[in-house]
Order: sequence, then C-alpha cells, then structure tokens
Amino acid sequence: MTDVVLVLNAGSSSIKFAVYPSGTNTVPLIRGKVAGVGRDPVFSAVRADGTAIDMVMPKNIDAAADHEALISLLLDWLAEHRADRRLVAVGHRVVHGGRDFLKPVIVDDSVLSQLEQLIPLAPLHQPHNLAAIRAISRLQPTVPQVACFDTSFHQTQDRLAQLFALPRDLSDEGIIRYGFHGLSYEYIAGILPDHLGERAEGRVIVAHLGNGASMCAMKNRQSVATSMGFTALDGLMMGRRCGALDAGVVLYLMQSKGLNATEIETLLYRRCGLLGVSGISNNMRELERSDDPKAREAIELFCFRAASVLGGLVTALGGLDAIVFTAGIGENSALVRKLICDRLACFGVDLDPNSNEGNSPRIGSVQSSIDVLVLPTDEEIVISNATNETVALG
Ligand code: ADP
Repeated sequence: MTDVVLVLNAGSSSIKFAVYPSGTNTVPLIRGKVAGVGRDPVFSAVRADGTAIDMVMPKNIDAAADHEALISLLLDWLAEHRADRRLVAVGHRVVHGGRDFLKPVIVDDSVLSQLEQLIPLAPLHQPHNLAAIRAISRLQPTVPQVACFDTSFHQTQDRLAQLFALPRDLSDEGIIRYGFHGLSYEYIAGILPDHLGERAEGRVIVAHLGNGASMCAMKNRQSVATSMGFTALDGLMMGRRCGALDAGVVLYLMQSKGLNATEIETLLYRRCGLLGVSGISNNMRELERSDDPKAREAIELFCFRAASVLGGLVTALGGLDAIVFTAGIGENSALVRKLICDRLACFGVDLDPNSNEGNSPRIGSVQSSIDVLVLPTDEEIVISNATNETVALG
C-alpha cells in the first residue's frame, strides 16, 4: 500500500487536483482537473511523465453537478484507479485566512466556521474552497484535512504596507491589506536561489499573471508589499476583475445608477478586466489571436497597469534586482512580458527578444541591469508539503 496525499484547489468553475506519495517534496503520481463545474463537467488527468490517463467516469454525470458531487466521483475514481493507494490526508488551497490563520491548519468544525466568516472577502473563491473541505468531511470523515492559505505568505509585511488610510477603528477591526497568491509566491521564493544565487536574497518582484493576477515585492525572499489588498479585487487588471479602482466609482454605481451590492459584486468580479475592456474574452491567449483593436487595447491596458504597479513596488523595496514572471500569462505570453518590460526600461530592464519568445528561464539581455526570469509556479507541491508537515505535527 502506498500512502498518498490528495491536493485540491477548488475554484468556481474548476477543481484542480494532484495525488502525491506522502512525504515532503515527492513527485505527483497524478495531476488533473475537473473543468466546467456546474455546466457539463469534464475530467482529465496526466501521470508524472505527462502522459494522459483515460479517466473512465460514469456516463450519467449531471451537467449541473456541484463541487461535492464531483469530488465524490473523483474519490471513487481514485479508489478504483489504484486500489493499492491509501489516502492519508487532503490538502486544500484556501484563499483567505484573515487575521487568525497565519500558517496551514488542520480543519475541524470550529476552523471551518471561522473560515466561513471570510466568504464575503473572497466571494469568488472561498465558498468553493470550503465546499471541497465539507465534501471530504462527509465522504472521508477520518482523513485529516489541512487548509493552506494564500494570505499567509504576506504576514512578514510591515504595518505600513498593510494599512489602508482608513480610520483606526476600521483597521483594528481587520480591514487591512492581506494579499493573495501566497502559495505561488512561497514556491517561487523557494526556488529563487537555484536561479539567482545570492541575488535571490535581494530586491525581487514576482508577477503572478494568471486569470487572477498580482505582484509581490520580496526582500530576503519574504513579502514586503503586494498589489492585492483586503480582497482579491485590488491591484492589477485581471481576466474578469477590475483591479484597483477609485472607490468613488462604487459610490457612483450605487447612488446614480442604482446598482445594489450583489450587482456591483458581479460587475467588479466577473464583468471587468480583460473581458470588460475587450468585450471579447477574459482569456489572454484568445485576445492575442484577435485582430480586433478592442482586444489589443485590453492587452495594452493590462500591461500599462502592471508596469505602473511594479514601479510602485520598486519604491517599497528601495530598488530592484530581479523580476520573475509566473502563472499562465507570465509563463507563456512573450507579448505581455515585452509590453510590461518596455515600460520598465527606466529601471534598467532590457529583454533578450529570442529568450523572451522562447519562454526561457532567463529573458534579460546582457545589458539588462535587472535579472528577468520566467519560472513556472507550483502551488500544489507547496500544499502537499504543508499538508504532510501539518499532519505530522498535529
Ligand atoms: P488560473 O488563475 O485560473 O490558475 P492560469 O495561471 O492558468 O489561471 O492562467 C490563465 C491565463 O493564462 C489565461 O488568460 C490564458 O489565456 C493565459 N495563457 C495560457 N497560455 C498562454 C499563451 N500561450 N499565451 C498567452 N496567454 C496564455
């Protein structure tokens, strides 16, 4: 029997999963995804060597099946697929840990109810993260579950980096900047020395550019400042989210256009960003293929905003030694990296066009005074390691 750890990253429309032999820094046996949650789900998985696994699933899956139903099917499939594996723990990505959860934690009823209080702060993610935890509790009640938080990595920030200019009582209540994508930043921080040697301890800005997008300014591989705030709406323009927005716009939408809170939430989380500006798609790859000027304008705005946020983070670091691009857009879009880096020439950033086109790990030219790297992120291994360590301690 091989003991395995299941890692789940449950989002609104997909559930990503990976199965690791228990122990830290193991290689996943399976990685996969349930796409189209709530509207015709599709299961897919690959082995460690990247070859596809034919996931034979029941024929009668309800198109509207929810997270719990799909996780139940996934557990059944995992049990049948390799009956010689025993599930010993499940690790979950949980987007918001608020002020109370600064490191991974074994989930019990009290933890779950505390995490439920944070749903309004991450309405797009937290409910699905918690639905996955509840599903496992019902289906495998004896298997320990560990919640790993996207907010934890940023707890090293100074108070100034965390404060909004709000009245003190509101800050004291917890209306502060938390920051997100911490599991991705933790992974990148872990591998930086392999790529930068001693410069890894210097002033590094990591740009996590995926459907959600943020940047983290690091010194000594710890978070000093980040672009996301109280919620994952702040900072960079994203696939569907607006990023930083004059709060007066929200007041105007309420007072002059009569939108209620739910309508504003839907607008800001689902209808803005690349999708809203282009009117075509939230998907960067599709926009790059389009010759519609609105698609180009959306890409240009994404890059303009990213470069100006990065410039602001340079001041938090007092200079800059390296930039790292990661996540779907950061790892794959040479155009986005070029448009951002062209605007950073004033800091001494210069790209080597061929390396950039080839998504090479190092894309800065020999003249560039700043190292520019492209490093694939791996949030799942961070969750797997944390789950092993937390269960061993617990
Ligand atoms: P998530 O936040 O859902 O994990 P990802 O990190 O997978 O998102 O990033 C998804 C984004 O990456 C999409 O906008 C997608 O179009 C973009 N992307 C992936 N591959 C490419 C590519 N080759 N060129 C441009 N954009 C890409």
